[in-house]
Amino acid sequence: MSKGNIGVTSANIFPVIKKFLYSDHEIFLRELVSNAVDATQKLKTLASVGEYKGELGDLTVRIAINKKKGTLTISDRGIGMTAEEIEKYINQIAFSGAEEFLEKYKNDAQAIIGHFGLGFYSSFMVSKQVEIFTQSHKEDAKAQHWACDGSPEYNLEDTIKAERGTDIVLHIDDDNKDFLEESKIQELLTKYCKFLPIEIAFGKKKEWKDGKNVETEEDNIINNTNPAWTRKPADLTDEDYTKFYHELNPMAEDPLFHIHLNVDYPFNLTGILYFPKIKNNIEMQRNKIQLYCNQVYVTDHVENIVPEYLTLLHGVIDSPDIPLNVSRSYLQSDANVKKISSHITKKVADRLAEIFKADRSAFEEKWDNLKVFIQYGMLSDEKFYERAEKFSLLKNIDCKYFTFEEYKTLVGENQKDKNGDLIYLYANNSDEQYSYIQHAKDKGYDVLIMDGQLDVHVVGQLEQKFEKTRFVRVDSDVIDKIIQKDDAAKVPLTEMQRDALVTVFDSQVPPIDKTNFIVTFEQLAPTSNPVFVTQNEFMRRMKEMSALQGGMMSFYAEMPDSYNLVVNTAHPIIEKLLADEESACGTNVKPLETEIALVESQKSALKENQKGKKDEEIPASEKTQIEEFDKQIQELTDKKKTILKSFASETKQVRQLIDLALLANNMLKGEALANFVKRSVELL
Ligand code: ADP
Repeated sequence: MSKGNIGVTSANIFPVIKKFLYSDHEIFLRELVSNAVDATQKLKTLASVGEYKGELGDLTVRIAINKKKGTLTISDRGIGMTAEEIEKYINQIAFSGAEEFLEKYKNDAQAIIGHFGLGFYSSFMVSKQVEIFTQSHKEDAKAQHWACDGSPEYNLEDTIKAERGTDIVLHIDDDNKDFLEESKIQELLTKYCKFLPIEIAFGKKKEWKDGKNVETEEDNIINNTNPAWTRKPADLTDEDYTKFYHELNPMAEDPLFHIHLNVDYPFNLTGILYFPKIKNNIEMQRNKIQLYCNQVYVTDHVENIVPEYLTLLHGVIDSPDIPLNVSRSYLQSDANVKKISSHITKKVADRLAEIFKADRSAFEEKWDNLKVFIQYGMLSDEKFYERAEKFSLLKNIDCKYFTFEEYKTLVGENQKDKNGDLIYLYANNSDEQYSYIQHAKDKGYDVLIMDGQLDVHVVGQLEQKFEKTRFVRVDSDVIDKIIQKDDAAKVPLTEMQRDALVTVFDSQVPPIDKTNFIVTFEQLAPTSNPVFVTQNEFMRRMKEMSALQGGMMSFYAEMPDSYNLVVNTAHPIIEKLLADEESACGTNVKPLETEIALVESQKSALKENQKGKKDEEIPASEKTQIEEFDKQIQELTDKKKTILKSFASETKQVRQLIDLALLANNMLKGEALANFVKRSVELL
């Protein structure tokens, strides 16, 4: 028997370990099971090269809880350790490793969390005492018993152990009793050890018998030792891939596609990525890629390893070369990690291009589910855009799909306006924008459907990429203005007539929460609708973008929606309305207008007189006079408006025209809608 002092300089590193790694205690299990698996694989290697000649026997790694004794034991039948090896690997190397580790990261607790490096000594995070019982595979080696209570002192003595291999016995401390719960250990083994290459048994399988859960003879193996990503693509069928996907995501729908990664230069990396079926809420879907290191689970935070937009994919990446025991910020700047990221991008793009080429109709069928990934990639990664522009699709209102090139050929000549700008028309809701879509179609134009979560950004991007091309939503203006072929016809209204019609229509728009209307005039075809509602493309996009982004842009999101109420002055109903207004209000309004004009001319004469004078040079009496004029103009204007408003409210047609326009835009709701129905019946 020997007693000794562990080779560390600081008096007692264990309290530090415990405190330091407080938030991530559970990784001790991963470390110890990995050691057990390593020891087993080393033995297999020795056997395969003839250096170990004994029977391998059952190599299962076993985990056992003894609640009475308060212990958790990890047993393997691997190479075991001799007394010298314990001395070297446990007492010296591991301890100094742990010390070095702490020294390195003492100011960067974040860096340690969830990453490798502490190995065997992480067991002290949860134990008041740790024992090792080990029998080396070497002939004549004596079994060893090592014990340490967390101080730098240890005990090492010969013992008797029937089987080759190592038992690590943890005497769980009082603060960590939950690691003696079966469910907890089962959960951790499933998380960290699900795909380790040596079978891991945790107790026996249970069976439902006579109303009770009873243990069977069969080991409860928690891992799949041969997961799909470690096998050759040629040996796997589509079913195998789907089956593996469900091993990772038991509840998910079948994935759309998979991509099998296999790289050996300039780093080693294997893995399988899946395109899951998601349509909305991409925020919910992250962290579904698991990072492994030689089949040991490391993390599901891979944001620095795969490009941001690919964190929407699901699956597994396994690389012994990704530096795991370093901080996350380091990962970001690591050249190899960057290469991994661009490699994955290339692979994903190649695979999509391949599917597109091989089976276009299958690709189209999946497009609606796929597009969020592809668009996200195109928006965030120029390299990906360059690859994806060949297979990214646009879908039109008739559910036909086009590549960018194809669509340009389709609409290229027909949808050019008088300035030679190519206009891509789109809708984001084919029901709500039905009448606008119809108007566009009547003109022989094609309308795209852009109803995806990212489409507002995509539209912005494509406008930058495509030459002399604009995307305009069908309801943002009357179609002849959206694609303006000739100079617009002049609106044949005098200023007085304009003013009058603005007041007439403005006064009758029903109040809609957070919504403004501006009355405008267009001289359109007499057969076009008499009144339209449109929404300015720029303002609407700003609002949509800001709703997605928040932050600085939320300024726009807070603003009310602004719509145009477009009055078609060429329509016979409007012409008649104007004539009616003039004959009904003319006698009362005309004298007011003459009077307003008179006061205004007096006011401007006075203003003319004051030109060039400084404020203090103007007599107070003149200032009062100007105020007086303004008041008069205001009063006269109000009088005029009152007359026009009363005409408008008595003329049911005005309300009816506005309501019809709102209705066509799906904006007539609640009381306003009920009033419309009632009025329509009356008019009939
Ligand atoms: P690492 O595994 O990173 O080398 P550890 O602190 O976990 O660091 O372990 C130190 C060393 O102790 C290992 O490299 C190995 O030589 C030895 N060791 C640990 N656990 C076992 C085991 N179950 N069987 C045999 N050797 C082991």
